[in-house]
Amino acid sequence: MSVLSAGRKRYVIVGNGVAGTTAAETLRKADAECQITILADEPYPLYNRIALPRVLKKTTLPERTIIRQLGWHADNRIDLLLETTVTRVDTEAKTVTTGDGRELPYDKLLIASGGTPNPLRLPGAAGTRGIYHFQTLDDTKAILARTERAKSAVTLGGSFIAYELTEAFRHRNIPTTWLVRGPRFLHRIIDEDGGALVDRLAREVGVETYYGEQGAEVQAECGDVAGITTHSGKRFSCDLVGVGIGLTLRTEFLKDTPVQVRTGVVTNEYLETSVPEVYAAGDVAEFFDVHIGAHNQMGTWNNAAAHGRTAAVNMMGGRQVYGEVPFYTSTMFESQMAAIGTTPDIRAGMEAISRLDLGAHVYRRLFFLEGRLAGAVLIGDIRVRRQLVDIIKSRQVIEPGEREKLLAV
Ligand SMILES: Cc1cc2nc3c(=O)[nH]c(=O)nc-3n(C[C@H](O)[C@H](O)[C@H](O)COP(=O)(O)OP(=O)(O)OC[C@H]3O[C@@H](n4cnc5c(N)ncnc54)[C@H](O)[C@@H]3O)c2cc1C
Repeated sequence: MSVLSAGRKRYVIVGNGVAGTTAAETLRKADAECQITILADEPYPLYNRIALPRVLKKTTLPERTIIRQLGWHADNRIDLLLETTVTRVDTEAKTVTTGDGRELPYDKLLIASGGTPNPLRLPGAAGTRGIYHFQTLDDTKAILARTERAKSAVTLGGSFIAYELTEAFRHRNIPTTWLVRGPRFLHRIIDEDGGALVDRLAREVGVETYYGEQGAEVQAECGDVAGITTHSGKRFSCDLVGVGIGLTLRTEFLKDTPVQVRTGVVTNEYLETSVPEVYAAGDVAEFFDVHIGAHNQMGTWNNAAAHGRTAAVNMMGGRQVYGEVPFYTSTMFESQMAAIGTTPDIRAGMEAISRLDLGAHVYRRLFFLEGRLAGAVLIGDIRVRRQLVDIIKSRQVIEPGEREKLLAV
């Protein structure tokens, strides 16, 4: 071991999203001497993924989403290797190998590699132009170019990404049909009442919605998408398709290691993986969530940032338990929505109570685990979200008679 590496810790981070970049920032603030390398297969420094829908709506410019310019990395002596894919990790030799054959040694490694969108595997889809995922800035630029000449769009998926695409297309005045395979939007989180409200909000702004409809085939003309047929035999003409059918977490480079991977990289509450000196943070982490006493995986910006901070503290020898309650806020057409903490898509067997005021466009559903508030979903009026986060954090048992009152606050 060289004198240099004996004294200066070498931190290697896979992924320059908000989890990886926040970890690097936290490390540098605490240790002026350490070596920090971030490996990233995209061509940009950290950009704001949650601003990408605004780029599609043309309410912000693509370049405005960059939130850490390259000069920031230089000023902080963080080596950012862009367009560099990590292909392999050797946890015995403590090295990371890149697609272009470089080998980087580490003392501590952070996996913050996020996820990649699931492809649309329908006959006729492969190679057809006009079908888009929505995950990266490059995806966004490609969709933006297509929307300039699109006459009608179909979106596929029952979750947030499909919603964001639907909302952006209709904002751009492109007639849009939204196909949801399940019985309603977020069907594992919101009940029929909530689904009815989302449907009303979508229809009020002119979106056509179909539920229980699954794509069966893509039709193309001269290589460009021309329509989608569903299993029930319906055909929807379109020249633009937006796909939001889930993410696969990026763990492929860990396959030869003993690092435990299930859906994501499994960690304890300190964000340590099953292998010493290897940590995981952000979307890719399947972390032990102290609020529910079970493993959890989140796809939210503030969870990823907070993971990055906690992982960095623990990589430096700290012992910080990750105990944040993440929440996701979004527009919901002309309204708003928030999903807070643990929801039934993550943890089965929670008790739920809900309230709908269809006329006022307000819906609230609360989830309880062992008598404690664990999560919530709000549509319309989301002002109460911080209060609910505090109640979740407090872990106070709420008697059945008191629970209904939370629907009214
Ligand atoms: C369109 C859109 C809208 C969203 N809106 C919201 C919202 O309103 N609110 C909210 O809370 N969340 C939202 N999210 C989710 C939020 O953006 C993510 O939860 C968050 O960005 C995850 O950060 P991360 O750092 O864990 O991973 P990522 O941001 O996914 O970063 C991981 C990076 O690692 C790179 N990488 C992966 N594998 C490798 C490898 N082998 N080698 C090198 N690099 C690799 C990836 O290319 C990527 O750049 C949205 C996401 C999208 C796509």
